[in-house]
Amino acid sequence: MFPNATNTFFRGREMALLTKHRKEQLIAPLLEPFLGSKVVQLDDYDTDNLGTFTRDVKRTGTQLETARKKARIGMELTGLKLGLASEGSFGVDPYTGFIPWNIEVVVFIDDMHGLEIVGVAQGSTKIVQEKVDNLEKARRLVADFGFPASQVIVRPDDGENPHFIKGVATWDQFEAVFHDCWRLSKQGLVFIESDFRAHANPARQNMIRLAAINLLLKLHSHCPNCHAPGYWVTETKPGLPCEYCGAPTAVFRAQIYRCPKCDFSKEVARSDLQFADQGSCSLCNP
Ligand SMILES: [Zn+2]
Ligand SMILES: [Zn+2]
Repeated sequence: MFPNATNTFFRGREMALLTKHRKEQLIAPLLEPFLGSKVVQLDDYDTDNLGTFTRDVKRTGTQLETARKKARIGMELTGLKLGLASEGSFGVDPYTGFIPWNIEVVVFIDDMHGLEIVGVAQGSTKIVQEKVDNLEKARRLVADFGFPASQVIVRPDDGENPHFIKGVATWDQFEAVFHDCWRLSKQGLVFIESDFRAHANPARQNMIRLAAINLLLKLHSHCPNCHAPGYWVTETKPGLPCEYCGAPTAVFRAQIYRCPKCDFSKEVARSDLQFADQGSCSLCNP
């Protein structure tokens, strides 16, 4: 049934996935064939109780804590010993602090083997968050953002207005909603922002897929000491020698793999590169 499933830890088991926004369509096709287990999707619990992107329900825990909580609720509701959950966050990039940035985690909990393994993916993304005073500008703004494939949320005046319409997904709907919000506004402004919910945001869907693939890789990496899955890089060591002068550079030369279960760790030299590009050497290229 699952010809690619090689992982005896999870074969033939069921995993609970609590999601309101059709994330099972992104995650299940990747995980099921390679784990040999089946995703059991639950949509009767409103995950918006744990926080929304529209700021009407604040998320109380961190991204990982919220994902963990969702996975646990799914496991409780189904009575399954395997749980999955995904949680996203949007902010700015960690390097310059200017580029819109999306981080996605997919948490995997296995109570049978006492495991918690987290798939992560992150990268730049496109967002829209602007006040506009006429429909023509508004149309250009959302078209640039990728509307209607990427959906938007519209409010009168500003981002704090409690009246908002989410899931705006067609041009006709957009125009009608724009006029409604414009009529309700006190300053003659309409606030338009990205809808970050997974089913409304194709860029986010891709990032969730990448996080699921990262999880899959971790689940197939086993500890040489205790054989538990999740043996993965937790740290990198800089110092790869410069190709020209041989001095150590900031480019990583080794990775530390660590087991989440028994804490066994090992330094592994990188196998893709022997030398760093001259451009990253502080002596050759100060
Ligand atoms: Zn181990
Ligand atoms: Zn050099």
